[in-house]
Amino acid sequence: MKPFIYDYTLEQIQQWMKDNSEPTFRAAQLFDWLYVKRVKGFEEMTNLPKQLREKLDEQFAFVTLEEITKFESKDGTVKFLFGLHDNHAIETVVMRHNYGNSICVTTQVGCRIGCTFCASTLGGLKRNLTAGEIVAQVVTAQQMLDATGERISSIVIMGSGEPFENYEATMDFLRIMIHEKGLHIGQRHITVSTSGIVPSIYKFAEENTQINLAISIHAPNDMLRSKLMPVNRRFPFEEVMEACRYYLAKTGRRITFEYALIGGVNDRPEHAEELADVLQDLLCHVNLIPVNHVPERKYVRTPREDIFEFQRILERKKVNATIRREQGHDIAAACGQLRAKHMESQAR
Ligand code: SAH
Repeated sequence: MKPFIYDYTLEQIQQWMKDNSEPTFRAAQLFDWLYVKRVKGFEEMTNLPKQLREKLDEQFAFVTLEEITKFESKDGTVKFLFGLHDNHAIETVVMRHNYGNSICVTTQVGCRIGCTFCASTLGGLKRNLTAGEIVAQVVTAQQMLDATGERISSIVIMGSGEPFENYEATMDFLRIMIHEKGLHIGQRHITVSTSGIVPSIYKFAEENTQINLAISIHAPNDMLRSKLMPVNRRFPFEEVMEACRYYLAKTGRRITFEYALIGGVNDRPEHAEELADVLQDLLCHVNLIPVNHVPERKYVRTPREDIFEFQRILERKKVNATIRREQGHDIAAACGQLRAKHMESQAR
């Protein structure tokens, strides 16, 4: 199979042009067709010589994301279920805010992290996505928005999969997204979320970007975190915290800690107290997420009043905390829900 043209950063395309005795400025032209004009085939790239277009077409493929379904919520949230060339399905969500549109992308087909509250991990990991398959989610969503003159202005890597276990593809994806000759998404408007893959946190600290880092923490201590997130046995709580301290020292950039509140499990006032103590000296922000119901899991939501109380306890101890605003409830927009349903219906 041919590699995807979306897999390549501008620098890599420049190298390809050199290797093929083409002037390197052709790479920027190609990049412009891909990400600014957003065409769907090489033949449309009319300022490239015909021979070059044919050669590109021989060597590279466009990613074809087949739109299996598209749900649109009353609040404007759009959820895509895309089919890949090998018949796997992935989810991508576009959220509409008054300050702009954001997209939530998927980095793996399935996931092997095994968080007990998450739908994405139910069938295990099938495979990594290539950089181009992640890029294609954004380009395809942007093509939809082009019809109404809207733009995607922020990206969260919070779909299915663990981006820090598909590190190189995720980084290439990011390099393509932020490039000023491409979609040029502001680095500060991009967040990559990890379940705490410690070696990758250290690597990411060295990348010298302004991209935001979010850590799925979900518990204030090692024991409870291991119960909710088996990955905590591989990379224990304290090692994750140590990596976060390193990242902060290195980058000076605030970390977001995601904390899914699960009724009676990790949402008691003593959990909030303990969390606040652990995060005391860190430049950080806690994002409280009322747990989304996953039919296969038995967890229940925290009552609203208790969510506010949890937040108040953190704030009283000077730990900044917000409650995640929810969108797309009517279309099962939470991680992995749609794909899980799709797999179920195929199995019948
Ligand atoms: N693997 C990465 C990226 C997924 S991001 C990570 O773990 O960070 C998706 C976020 O939603 C993570 O914080 C994840 O823990 C959280 N999440 C997963 N299932 C959830 C559910 N049922 N309710 C609320 N949050 C959930």
